[in-house]
Amino acid sequence: KLHNQVEDAKGNIRVFCRCRPLNKSEASSGCSTVVDFNTASDGVLGVLTTGSTSTKKTFKFDYVFTPKDNQDDVFAQASPLVTSVLDGYNVCIFAYGQTGTGKTFTMEGTSGNRGVNYRTLAELFKISNERSDTFTYNISVSVLEVYNEQIRDLLAPPSSTSKKLEIKQASEGFHHIPGLIEAKVEDVKEVWNVLQTGSSARVVGSNNVNERSSRSHCMLCIVVRAKNLLNGECTKSKLWLVDLAGSERLGKTDAQGDRLKEAQNINRSLSALGDVVSSLANKTNHIPYRNSKLTHLLQDSLGGDSKTLMFVQISPSEKDLSETLSSLNFATRVR
Ligand code: ADP
Ligand code: MG
Repeated sequence: KLHNQVEDAKGNIRVFCRCRPLNKSEASSGCSTVVDFNTASDGVLGVLTTGSTSTKKTFKFDYVFTPKDNQDDVFAQASPLVTSVLDGYNVCIFAYGQTGTGKTFTMEGTSGNRGVNYRTLAELFKISNERSDTFTYNISVSVLEVYNEQIRDLLAPPSSTSKKLEIKQASEGFHHIPGLIEAKVEDVKEVWNVLQTGSSARVVGSNNVNERSSRSHCMLCIVVRAKNLLNGECTKSKLWLVDLAGSERLGKTDAQGDRLKEAQNINRSLSALGDVVSSLANKTNHIPYRNSKLTHLLQDSLGGDSKTLMFVQISPSEKDLSETLSSLNFATRVR
């Protein structure tokens, strides 16, 4: 329990900033970098708001990952939080930022460079095996997508995807979604299969996966049921891992029709998330969970004694400066 006291002392809401490297085309076109990390070890990052160093804005975070930090470095900082779900805490981790800044890279990763989602489950299995003398754990996974304020089960067979899911309030404030598939997983191999099924289901109903995925929230819900074999005590805790829709503002030419509707729904849910997290950080009495499907879904894992971690993903490139500043300001608001 000492470990948890140390964690608790840092508070329940943490914000990590991760800056991706310049990509090939940016590097070859001689794109300049506006983010500096000289003081990254203190969790401080500087952004040049013009080409001159005299107008630098600094932002402070619980941790800053530079373009040199890899997936191991990121998980090393996040793992104490995710594994506290085995001690009965509800946890929520989400990645926020402009499309192309590495939200999916951080959460999902690639097959050769796996991200937080897979590593989390691998770590949960590892610890639960180490504790098998005193605990039995049941771990299940659901994968869903929120698009235009509608919830879709990504583990459901394709024929049933038209079925809309709704959030119901169970007794004692616990929320559940009738009909949502909870896949029981026994080891990491099964986890990989489940995550792949979820990812490929996002393709259904869209012409371009990347386009669609940048406008929907992809949410992984891990439920851990634990039984203490010594005293018979049972607990249930939830861990949400969320790859949010892109936070960029809509270009003027796109501001009509379906695109406009999508953008309004994204704005609404991201600002609802900002409102909830900042109300929690400021210890406001009324927490406006019901303003979006996203915050309503996350309700059990945001607030109370749950732990929250936000990754603010940014680009180092000068051309993305205004979106970068807007993401950093969003993050500052919730801290
Ligand atoms: P988002 O989900 O925010 O739209 P992606 O995760 O798809 O962004 O990242 C965009 C591209 O940049 C991908 O090709 C991804 O592999 C790459 N990328 C993002 N972050 C990093 C990083 N830290 N290191 C190396 N490549 C990265
Ligand atoms: Mg993405």
